[in-house]
Amino acid sequence: MPLKKSASKKAVGPNIAREEAAGKPRKQAIAIALDVQRRAKAKARARKRCKCGGGCESCRGE
Ligand SMILES: [Zn+2]
Repeated sequence: MPLKKSASKKAVGPNIAREEAAGKPRKQAIAIALDVQRRAKAKARARKRCKCGGGCESCRGE
């Protein structure tokens, strides 16, 4: 299952657990989960700013 790309705090815990289950050290799992959250937040901000109405690359997401 892929990591939840959510900006919410709720997604961080499960993402840490998933990375640890995949064999990553706890420190690294936390870093990865926080990085995913940070990126999701940045993306949400970019979408809010955008005037394209959802058609551009950043609005469509990955
Ligand atoms: Zn856009």
